[in-house]
Amino acid sequence: MIQCNYCNSTKHKKRYHVQSSENNKTVTYYTCQRCGSIMQYPLPDENTIKEYYNNYREIKKNMNPGYLNQQGYNALKNERNMTLKEIGFDSKTIPNKTNIELGCANGHFLRYLVEMNSKETIGIDISDELLNSIDLNGVTLINGSLDDIKTSSCDTLFLFNVLEHIPDIQSLMENSIRITKPDSSIIIEVPLSGFVQNFFGAKWRFFMPDEHIQIPSKKGLIMLLKRYNLKVTGYTRFGSGFTSGMIHPFFKRIFDYSAKKIKCGDRGTFLIQPEKIKPL
Ligand SMILES: [Zn+2]
Repeated sequence: MIQCNYCNSTKHKKRYHVQSSENNKTVTYYTCQRCGSIMQYPLPDENTIKEYYNNYREIKKNMNPGYLNQQGYNALKNERNMTLKEIGFDSKTIPNKTNIELGCANGHFLRYLVEMNSKETIGIDISDELLNSIDLNGVTLINGSLDDIKTSSCDTLFLFNVLEHIPDIQSLMENSIRITKPDSSIIIEVPLSGFVQNFFGAKWRFFMPDEHIQIPSKKGLIMLLKRYNLKVTGYTRFGSGFTSGMIHPFFKRIFDYSAKKIKCGDRGTFLIQPEKIKPL
């Protein structure tokens, strides 16, 4: 049975058949009728996912040159500065906190945290190869998952482009709650289904078989968070769906600007905090 892991509904509508250029097969994505989130079905098994990430560096090199090098870092730094400001995250808190990033890849954002004088910095990734390429002092690197983090030890948990990759979203959420302190923040950046994705149909840039397996709508994400007593206190949406080279840079700038302005972009970043339960 196809179930939406964001809103728990089993009703779905539109299907997209997406050809994967990386692993030479066609997969099917379903749209949840209730919340509009999108899931690959059937979900890839553990071995398929493992195999995919073993080739990750190679895949990223083909798809998105620059993602993992110095220029990539500068671009990322500017983007993160802007995004964190837009969602209302106070970067001045970084130096007093234990900051943890799940899915740290080759450590660009860890470097950002170190440059911001993070008190304690922990990076977690499933790829040994990527972790081995990180050359940073004062950072703890873990080849594993949130299971490896102590209960109530984290002030700020960063999940940049993680959620859409994870088969077991429930366990990710439970673990996120377990490791964070009561007054913590969670930052989630994720592709979002909706207007832009509808416009591009099966050609949408974030349909990436075996990599992006469960993509939420904004509504679906909020429903998921609610089940864990979490609420969104600030967010931003950006991305017109056009990637560099697809259209003239002038038009891309206009479309990107508009998507952000009217908050219909196909990516979003959310500042999330625990719902304060009023004392009786
Ligand atoms: Zn749903």
